[in-house]
Amino acid sequence: MKFMKLLRFAIVSLFMVIVTIFIINEVSDHRMDEAPEPFPNNGASSQDAAKDPSNPVLNADRELSSNSEGVISNSQAPTENLNSALIIFTFDDGNESDYVLAYSILKKYGIKGTSYISPYYSDHQVKHKLSWNQIKEMAADGWDFEDHTYSHINMAKSAPEQIRQSMEQVNKAFTANGLKIPVALAYPYGKFVRETIDIVKEYRAQARLAYYADDFVDLSNVDLYRIPCVSADMRTEERLKEKERLVDKACSENGIIVFRVHCLYRNEVDDMGKEVVQTSSKLFEKLVSHCVKKGCAFTTMNNFP
Ligand SMILES: [Zn+2]
Repeated sequence: MKFMKLLRFAIVSLFMVIVTIFIINEVSDHRMDEAPEPFPNNGASSQDAAKDPSNPVLNADRELSSNSEGVISNSQAPTENLNSALIIFTFDDGNESDYVLAYSILKKYGIKGTSYISPYYSDHQVKHKLSWNQIKEMAADGWDFEDHTYSHINMAKSAPEQIRQSMEQVNKAFTANGLKIPVALAYPYGKFVRETIDIVKEYRAQARLAYYADDFVDLSNVDLYRIPCVSADMRTEERLKEKERLVDKACSENGIIVFRVHCLYRNEVDDMGKEVVQTSSKLFEKLVSHCVKKGCAFTTMNNFP
């Protein structure tokens, strides 16, 4: 009798463990992307984040691979005249590597990228972030600059007036530096609440997510304030191959991929500053070259279909 009780207890416990593991997996599939970079005003550092073993972005290569069943095709979308995929390369956080590496790599192929910047960094000449001169040079060459909030705030935790203030500050900084007022926003940390979107709508025409999912953009059914993207943060050939396979899939379906990249490094991690999420510029160039060979079309977020 005692044994049966014990057995029942063991079975129930095992069941609870399995359910817990399942829930954790589900949650982590929808976890946010993006490095918790230092907030300019609160002193939290990316090193602190890097020490956190639960940090999902410690190593970009640890990112979950794609759930190919989850990939949304846009074959019903009004881009059926395309012969291949449409690709947009976006860069978050206004790292100096956007200018030093990404800009020069894409330029070789005649491609323009989109940088989501936080003007606070440029206004305060933060090390390893884009300077206004670099931004102006790229913008004059057709590079697209968009809003990543003035000082990379967590919009889900910001009061409405803080979000409005950020929008106004971004507009002011862009205008003061001769740039057009942004039409697009990327939510820092991929974080927002419903009220955030209501305010963003007053100022921007679209907003991009930052989740670990490999969703193509489905033009027939896209929420312009929840534009999905695919992380192209990578440090290994293996991850490059995953991304190339997604490009191939997009090509066969006339799909649209918005790639999201953070800091590129030249030869080794940290050589362009200590950002939590980093990508090998050599692997990035291979991805770009793969897209070009496949005959993909390229655009920027301000021309988002
Ligand atoms: Zn960011």
